[in-house]
Amino acid sequence: MNTEAKAGIETVGHFIKGKNVAGRGRSQNVFNPATGKVIRQVALASKGTVEEAIAAAEAAYPAWRDTPVSKRARIMFRFKELLEQNADRVVALLTEEHGKVLHDAAGEFSRGVEIVEYACGAPEFLKGEHSKNVGPAIDSWSEFQPLGVVAGITPFNFPAMVPMWMFPMAIVCGNTFVLKPSERDPSAPMMVAQLLHESGLPEGVFNLVNGDKEAVDTLLTDPRVQAVSFVGSTPIAEYVYQTGGANGKRVQALGGAKNHAIVMPDADMDNAVSALMGAAYGSCGERCMAIAVAVTVGEETGDVLLGKLKAELEQLKVGPGSDNSNDMGPLITRQHFERVKGYVDQGEREGAELVVDGRGFSVTGHENGYFLGGTLFDRVTPEMKIYRDEIFGPVLCVVRVDTMQEAMDLIDQHAYGNGTCIFTRDGEAARYFSDHIKVGMVGINVPLPVPVAYHSFGGWKRSLFGDLYAYGPDAVRFYTRRKTITQRWPSSGVREGAQFSFPA
Ligand code: NAD
Repeated sequence: MNTEAKAGIETVGHFIKGKNVAGRGRSQNVFNPATGKVIRQVALASKGTVEEAIAAAEAAYPAWRDTPVSKRARIMFRFKELLEQNADRVVALLTEEHGKVLHDAAGEFSRGVEIVEYACGAPEFLKGEHSKNVGPAIDSWSEFQPLGVVAGITPFNFPAMVPMWMFPMAIVCGNTFVLKPSERDPSAPMMVAQLLHESGLPEGVFNLVNGDKEAVDTLLTDPRVQAVSFVGSTPIAEYVYQTGGANGKRVQALGGAKNHAIVMPDADMDNAVSALMGAAYGSCGERCMAIAVAVTVGEETGDVLLGKLKAELEQLKVGPGSDNSNDMGPLITRQHFERVKGYVDQGEREGAELVVDGRGFSVTGHENGYFLGGTLFDRVTPEMKIYRDEIFGPVLCVVRVDTMQEAMDLIDQHAYGNGTCIFTRDGEAARYFSDHIKVGMVGINVPLPVPVAYHSFGGWKRSLFGDLYAYGPDAVRFYTRRKTITQRWPSSGVREGAQFSFPA
């Protein structure tokens, strides 16, 4: 690992030009959220350190751009093998610093590896488009050329997977990369960086800087960076989109969410409840695809759902992520724990019915961990702050409506549009829902409709700033620019006159 000893504690530094680079200035604590203890420090890169990483990526670009795509793909194959061989080590780091339970961390990791698998197909997806004889002896083709140095800025909640949404596709398309992962859980991305290096990637093609706003602002303003992929909260996504755009960069910025699930009266209730439990409380609700709102259609549906959810919540196993028998671990930081708890207080004040209260929850032996029990509110209304805001914690709000159309109107009127889902046995209703709802990713009896690696991931409204989604076919478009070439080889000896009309 890229660490240096500092007062008996390791500091996670940077990875630039194929080498570990120690932090030189500011640093901050990294906590184990299950114990509340400081386990490491993370370096916070200065502008100068980020510029070093950009310079390394720029220097590596010409040779990498001209490296045959099959050779670039072969490095991805090797990378995939190394990831699989080292999965347990990465997963343990994810659990240690993020807090999610080992089985959940393993799921995150495997979804990241699937993107690497897709990237191995680059020789196929970069073939371009060709048209012969578009005119007399004229051929035309489009090719997809890399952009140059591109950057990725990622959130705390998927420290391995979200970086892997970005750099495998960017690199295999011929770009060089600078990653700025979350400073809250830096060790898993650093290990992934080491494995990529061991896969035979030339120095400087991939670089990693840890840091905060100073590092991000440097990436957003440096003229050598051609494009930026961002995933994180909506206020920062909007800032990144505007600042990167104002500095002439191509930007995709994926933001926050408030995902609703509609429960129809004809739904298979037991399966809907199981699905909602996993989608609302898995990873402590710290997923951008978590279900935060269940909209029940009809009073009776609401009553049945509430009864079953309450019973299930009493069985929810909350504890340290290192114990694989747990369902849910702690929240990421003390500060975030206080924020989520504050929302539960707020919901009570706003008059929502608190059916299950996760406050005051404690795990024996882990009294300083950031544990909150699963929380359930009934009779939440659209004016309430707990309905409007992304809470990003284990809090499920139930909103009761009378018709499916009312449920759809609620979803359409919400500021976010990342994911949504409907539980029903009615194919016609499901088809109408998926066709008309104003949300980017839709599930039909599927609570977390996270697209597989060969589709693309993104939301609508304030959940995505930009035009192209993450990974899959959209990533090929985002990380390349099209060049269209028209070619003619006139027969020798034939003299052609000048043509003054527009070529047709
Ligand atoms: P965040 O916005 O706080 O941080 C994301 C990144 O931005 C980090 O690398 C961080 O260092 C950087 N950053 C933070 N403040 C900054 C500032 N003022 N200026 C410049 N850079 C700054 O998000 P988070 O708390 O790490 O992650 C949780 C959020 O991410 C949630 O809102 C969640 O919904 C969202 N998320 C969205 C998706 C998606 O695909 N839409 C996926 C995962 C997470």
